[in-house]
Amino acid sequence: MELKLTDLDISEGFERLVLAEDASSGLRALICVHSTVLGPAAGGCRMWDYADDAEAIADVTRLARGMTYKNAMAGLGLGGGKSVIIGDARRDKTPAMMRAFGRAVDALKGMYYTAEDVGISPEDMAHAAAETRYAVGLSGASGDPSPWTAEGVFRCLRIGAAHVFGSDDLTGRRVLVQGLGHVGLSLAQKLHEAGAELIVTDIHAAALEEAKTRLGAEICAPDAVFEQRMDIFAPCALGGVLDEHSSAKLQARLVCGAANNQLTSPGIAEALRTRGITYLPDYVVNAGGIISVASEIHRTGDRWRRERLDGIAERVAEMLARASAEDRSTELIADEMVERMLREASAA
Ligand code: NAD
Repeated sequence: MELKLTDLDISEGFERLVLAEDASSGLRALICVHSTVLGPAAGGCRMWDYADDAEAIADVTRLARGMTYKNAMAGLGLGGGKSVIIGDARRDKTPAMMRAFGRAVDALKGMYYTAEDVGISPEDMAHAAAETRYAVGLSGASGDPSPWTAEGVFRCLRIGAAHVFGSDDLTGRRVLVQGLGHVGLSLAQKLHEAGAELIVTDIHAAALEEAKTRLGAEICAPDAVFEQRMDIFAPCALGGVLDEHSSAKLQARLVCGAANNQLTSPGIAEALRTRGITYLPDYVVNAGGIISVASEIHRTGDRWRRERLDGIAERVAEMLARASAEDRSTELIADEMVERMLREASAA
């Protein structure tokens, strides 16, 4: 049977939601295009064993909208979109399924560019890319995005430090890095080189030992993060780390890290602000990875990537200045900056 594409109803403010089904490979996927106002939509493909279609739709729409904001803020000339393949990545994924997914992406004729996300590797993307030129993040192209993400977070963290402490000199600043994965370890290395005192935590011991011996880091248990005294908190593990309880306990003056969706709700940014803690919105500071992927879409090189990283650092500085002047949270200011960009582009 042929690949079947069905346009589903979608809430106002979104452009398209497509269900892609391919019986021969078992593919069931959703592609959501939130906005193409600033350019073709771009965002990764996630494979997850959702409980039902409603859960998958809620996830893909939330993520697609998030990509519009991230791509806009990073000045990439790209809109926001995302896709999800419904299924267990370890059990169900096959090259034929990824090729069928590639055909689904191709049928959108460049309205959406896909790349890797949770459950999808560069090898999987290569199967999709055999069917479409709108699959990026391929081995041998823009490469691992993590070092770019770490570099972007590091630059923004310095700007945040200058705002909060009056100097971007990190010598002797206590920084807790939560999660020593691809991004966290690279960030910890940069912080060490800049003279910071590191506290690190992870659920796996190997990276912790490396950070201890090579970077002189202090190790803390994963569940003891909010008991630690620190100057800067850098969440680089999972989302949802800052909720009502943890944000009330956090002993830091600045939050800047790579993890997506760090706050359980937008109100947490305001709660942190009232406790004198500056939060740098995750989607702004962790855009280095998508900047790297965008360089593959636009076929640009290292210089372009570096200029975009400079751009996010400039936007963070602008956001902090406005947040202080207007006595509002950086999260609100960042969202407003993006919404203004979208309005101006739509009007133009
Ligand atoms: P990763 O999987 O390589 O690393 C995550 C690390 O966090 C792992 O070492 C894991 O053991 C650890 N971890 C998991 N649960 C933990 C817990 N409860 N406490 C402490 N440590 C825990 O992932 P990554 O690529 O380094 O990405 C880190 C975060 O940044 C993720 O939230 C990701 O979505 C986000 N992000 C990554 C990129 C990128 O370029 N890789 C870009 C944007 C955003």
